[in-house]
Amino acid sequence: MGAKEQMISILRDRDTARVRFTYRGGGRSDVINADSFQRVANDLASGHLNVVEGRHSTNMITYSAWAEGANSGNTFYLGNNLRWSRDFNALVVHESVHAFFDVTRTSIPWLDNEAAAYIAQGYYLRNSGYPQSRLEEDEPYEIGYRVARELAAGRSGSDWMFILRDKLNTDSRYSSYIHGSFSGDG
Ligand SMILES: [Zn+2]
Repeated sequence: MGAKEQMISILRDRDTARVRFTYRGGGRSDVINADSFQRVANDLASGHLNVVEGRHSTNMITYSAWAEGANSGNTFYLGNNLRWSRDFNALVVHESVHAFFDVTRTSIPWLDNEAAAYIAQGYYLRNSGYPQSRLEEDEPYEIGYRVARELAAGRSGSDWMFILRDKLNTDSRYSSYIHGSFSGDG
């Protein structure tokens, strides 16, 4: 199975379909649910979105919109990924949130875009039964997992949400863009 076909099947699988939350941050409200991931899967299947393998030397995936310039837009860039793992699936879910905001032409602060993506990543890990003990403590995806667990239980998750936003706001890995804004351009 090619990487693109694999990503489509991840986005349509039942653990992804059960990622369902309303992101509330900075006075906005964004719904992420099965329809969001179906949209991205359909856009991959139709060729509106593309996948490039082997772009990164580490286990990461990035997504570029057209507006970001340096790369070809509407494209997922894969790295040296363990492709048959729940970690990989969760990364695909994360980047698909960025792609969803892009194809739906959503203007959103990067802080909220990134926070929503980490909650989705954590939510997928929760849904797939990933052991919490294997999560790296205090990493954004681990905090996202904690937010997701609260949201899934019908609670606000606001304490962990505050911690997640603070982490993204202050961690130097995000400082080059996190205070800016993302403008989806389809
Ligand atoms: Zn991200």
